[in-house]
Amino acid sequence: MTLTKKPESLPAKNPWGLAAGGNVPWEYAPAPEATDHVRIEREYGLFIGNEFRPSKPRKSFTIINPATEEPLAKVAHASKADVHRAVGAAREAHRSVWSKLPGRERAKYLYRIARILQERSREFAVVESMNSGKPIKESRDVDVPLAAAHFFYYAGWADKLDYAFPNREPRSLGVAAQVIPWNFPLLMLAWKIAPALAAGNTVVLKPASTTPLTAYLFADVVRQADLPLGVVNIITGPGEIGMELVTHPDVAKVAFTGSTAVGKMIARAVAGTGKKVTLELGGKAANIVFDDAPLDQAIEGIINGIYFNQGEVCCAGSRLFVQESVYEPLIDKLKARLGTLRVGDPLDKNTDVGAINSAGQLAKVQELVDSGVAEGAEIFQPDCELPTRGFFFRPTLFTGVSQSHRIAQEEIFGPVLSVLTFRTPEEAIEKANNTPYGLSAGVWTEKGSRIFKMVSAMKAGVVWANTFNRFDPTAPFGGYKESGYGREGGIHGLGAYLDLSGNGRAGR
Ligand code: NDP
Repeated sequence: MTLTKKPESLPAKNPWGLAAGGNVPWEYAPAPEATDHVRIEREYGLFIGNEFRPSKPRKSFTIINPATEEPLAKVAHASKADVHRAVGAAREAHRSVWSKLPGRERAKYLYRIARILQERSREFAVVESMNSGKPIKESRDVDVPLAAAHFFYYAGWADKLDYAFPNREPRSLGVAAQVIPWNFPLLMLAWKIAPALAAGNTVVLKPASTTPLTAYLFADVVRQADLPLGVVNIITGPGEIGMELVTHPDVAKVAFTGSTAVGKMIARAVAGTGKKVTLELGGKAANIVFDDAPLDQAIEGIINGIYFNQGEVCCAGSRLFVQESVYEPLIDKLKARLGTLRVGDPLDKNTDVGAINSAGQLAKVQELVDSGVAEGAEIFQPDCELPTRGFFFRPTLFTGVSQSHRIAQEEIFGPVLSVLTFRTPEEAIEKANNTPYGLSAGVWTEKGSRIFKMVSAMKAGVVWANTFNRFDPTAPFGGYKESGYGREGGIHGLGAYLDLSGNGRAGR
């Protein structure tokens, strides 16, 4: 998909060298990623004890490509009995093998998985883009390499738990139940499975119902790496199956990433059971630009902050706060930059914004955008053509947004940016923290002292300075307030999978 028209209301002299009122004078030739090296099965069973097995009773549902609406595969619809089978396989694997292996042996498996992910990275990137709708350049350059990096990183910890947590007698917990969302299917799998295995736990993972294909491809990696039977189990099914899994009495650890509403339901359901819980939920991050910030650099950070992965990112910089004195030049630059984003085929290497993951999510984004217009904010969308099939949405910018607008309060989870203004750092802090969420934030300024002031005042688990959406396996990630609790990544993420009470209770 190529941009052929100049966006509406571009500033008279835009920085991209386009004549005012004129069309973009050139087009990118299509650069589709090859798919002939990828084999998607017609049907996938549940992955239990290193075997793909049909669900009992046999039932399945169809997975589609959100960019074409064409079916990709059928996957098994797990029953309550299947959850029990999967947890049983994980429990037995923990008892008989995995908890008894020395850390250095577990590490070897994790290194092996990391290397296989690297070797099969093209295959994973293509399947991820076909199933989730994300641009191939993101799955190729971000999702897959970061997933491999998590396995490398936690492999390094597997034989050093006593050094990571001195005098705490770290012990594995047992079976970890992991429920993940559709926005980063493989990466969330890696965030969850790598620390769990490094710490000596076994897992049952439930991917989101729209995006299970890279998880089932990962199941193949599990077999290729010769992991002992039942250490990693993967089951598919609707939300209720996720609930069956996390509440199963033989589950010792629950790790969930998804919406705040479901996170709260899980927290209530497992309260008082003694299960260790990590919840990584929604966000409404503030990205704050001061008047001394390098504006062109900030523009790239803003674009990356909200249009990366179609804005379907829990830590997306969806609220932009601009200091009043630079408001106009910044908005002009931002609109011009928005007009250069290429929306379309996720498998085209030139695509910047791919497909929204599902029809339901597209409807949610549209509903919130409509509410922004109805509440009086001013909408800007580049005049780009969208493919006629698939779930696409134009990158959207709202100005004239007030704090009370729904688009400033609710997580949209789409390519929609709400712009607000401020005069002083104190006002920025107050407005930025005025949200039930607290997952991430960004600050753009040349002043180091201001960065420190802002970072310590922001009620957010991660604060980026002069950058946005940077991830690293060594860095802990997690939220405040309704964005959840517990941390993933780094040594903190390892501790979340260990009994550190030192009383010998674990190893169940
Ligand atoms: P959900 O929170 O419903 O889904 C996340 C995962 O939880 C999926 O695997 C889902 O399974 C599972 N799940 C759903 N219901 C339950 C339940 N009752 N008990 C246990 N597990 C359950 O997110 P949605 O896909 O519905 O997205 C809704 C909104 O949530 C988005 O618009 C966005 O705002 C937010 N969201 C936030 C994410 C984040 O990373 N913070 C990620 C995804 C969404 P299944 O797919 O089968 O329903």
